[in-house]
Amino acid sequence: MTIYSHSRLSTFEQCPLRFKYKYIDKIIPEIEKSIEAHLGNIVHDTLEWVYNSVKNEKKTPTLDEIITYYSIKWQDEFSEEILIVKKQLSEKDYFNKGVEFLINYYTKHQPFQDGTIECEKKILIKLNETGEYKLQGFIDRLVHNLKTGEYEVHDYKTASYLPTKEKIDKDRQLALYSIAIKELFGQDKEVILIWHYLAHNTKIISKRTNEQLTQLKKDTVELIKKIELTTEFPANKSILCNWCEYKNICPMFNKQEIPKENFTEIKKEPINTKEKKLDIWD
Ligand code: SF4
Repeated sequence: MTIYSHSRLSTFEQCPLRFKYKYIDKIIPEIEKSIEAHLGNIVHDTLEWVYNSVKNEKKTPTLDEIITYYSIKWQDEFSEEILIVKKQLSEKDYFNKGVEFLINYYTKHQPFQDGTIECEKKILIKLNETGEYKLQGFIDRLVHNLKTGEYEVHDYKTASYLPTKEKIDKDRQLALYSIAIKELFGQDKEVILIWHYLAHNTKIISKRTNEQLTQLKKDTVELIKKIELTTEFPANKSILCNWCEYKNICPMFNKQEIPKENFTEIKKEPINTKEKKLDIWD
């Protein structure tokens, strides 16, 4: 039995060939990661440290301490191999973006005492009764709001894209996570889904009904069945290829003859590039 993750599913939807390289052939890419992924990781790590300090050490870090932690982490984990696609921006520009995100977040949310239960909480979602289909994930931060009694699933986004509320109301990832929270704490519990769009210093809130979650489980099982029955993995060329860790071996970008079955048409409808980037950086 394969335990799926949201990123595994979205990689298949974005480009079946990339899915094959990553999850079937398990090719270790030459490109370590993108600078956007580095920024996202370090900001996530910093906010995890902040909330854990409050929860475990009963101490709210100062803004100076937060920026110091972020700076050290950035340096420790930075390498010259990290891919910068947008050549007009430098490492320093990305570093400064993170500083700005953290200053804004600190101003809005300190002293960070909101009932946080756990950061980076690992969850396992049973998608069907027999347990044949399971999905694993990590919640950036889980909160039990003692004022409202609700559980809150918090997710940080560092990309510049800001989706519409309609789009967020259809988002799959956090909705799947809310299934796990209801399994843990009770089906009658209210679960609120909160996305922090740090580049916009704003948050978007959504929730799902139990009926919507039941349908989501069915749809996700269907997608997994489709993946498991797939034998052809065509390339799906798009703007996202610029961030693909397999671009250097992909037939779409190499001179060798590309087998016909490895092609799909580039989508005719306009691609919302920023929205797609969000998927690849998750
Ligand atoms: S470069 Fe593009 S088409 Fe090729 S595997 Fe990556 S995402 Fe797919």
